[in-house]
Amino acid sequence: MKIIQSPAELREWRQNLPPEASLGFVPTMGALHQGHLSLVQAARAQSQLVIVSIFVNPTQFDRADDLNNYPRQLQQDLTLLQEAGCDAIFFPQVADVYPWGTGRLHINLPGLSDAWEGVSRPGHFAGVALVVSKLLMLVQPQRLFMGQKDFQQTVVIRTLLQELFIPVELCILPTLREADGLAMSSRNVRLDAPARALAPGLYRCLQAMQTDWHTGMTPADIRQRAMDALLAIPGCKPDYVALTHAHTLQSLEQRPDDADTPVVALLAAWLGGVRLIDCLVIQ
Ligand code: AMP
Repeated sequence: MKIIQSPAELREWRQNLPPEASLGFVPTMGALHQGHLSLVQAARAQSQLVIVSIFVNPTQFDRADDLNNYPRQLQQDLTLLQEAGCDAIFFPQVADVYPWGTGRLHINLPGLSDAWEGVSRPGHFAGVALVVSKLLMLVQPQRLFMGQKDFQQTVVIRTLLQELFIPVELCILPTLREADGLAMSSRNVRLDAPARALAPGLYRCLQAMQTDWHTGMTPADIRQRAMDALLAIPGCKPDYVALTHAHTLQSLEQRPDDADTPVVALLAAWLGGVRLIDCLVIQ
């Protein structure tokens, strides 16, 4: 497994790959879990070569404490990636990715980057769009692998790929969950025991939204019941509960006439001082 730190080394590695070999790319912020590894496995299955980046991107954090407390475990990550059969790891320093500082380029996707997560985390998706653009220019993969767990992120990146004519196939993989339904996340290690025990309530809330949808309830009633269910979890502070069109992320005010309209439920909530997000495609 080739370990690459600088953009110059990465370019050299990339240029020396056989031209016919397809390259799959999995961007991560490290502190890897099975969810990340499922993306690596999918990349392995669909590409001849796989590269994973590990970079805690400062421009996508809106709070310094979240950036500083983000779990970092490089040695363990490298072992997991070696076992997963990764061909190369790119783990640059901040100065490698932003040698001219972080303020020179801003990528805004109006209506998308400022909705839902973007309301609570201003600037988050501008940071995500910027770092993914930079990484794609360096890695130049054929396929990009991302998790459905960060649903809004996948919509932002799909739009970015279209707008910039970036010739990369976006592959979105299902959310891996713990046995009790909690979506795997690097932030879960920060949950204390009581919060961890309550955290699967978020997924149960999404499942209830799905059931309510299929019984024909109105979007407003579904959202209200979900909000009430979250508020009933001790110590839970809901940030948002959304029922949206899965492509545009526009809130559904009425049930669409067309049963083929793709619908997703999204939520974010604070539990025990940790902000958790989850989603479920419900139609
Ligand atoms: P992160 O390191 O949190 O930036 O995540 C890197 C990639 O892993 C993103 O595409 C995430 O959507 C994906 N990911 C995170 N958690 C999961 C999960 N539980 N199941 C599947 N993919 C995930």
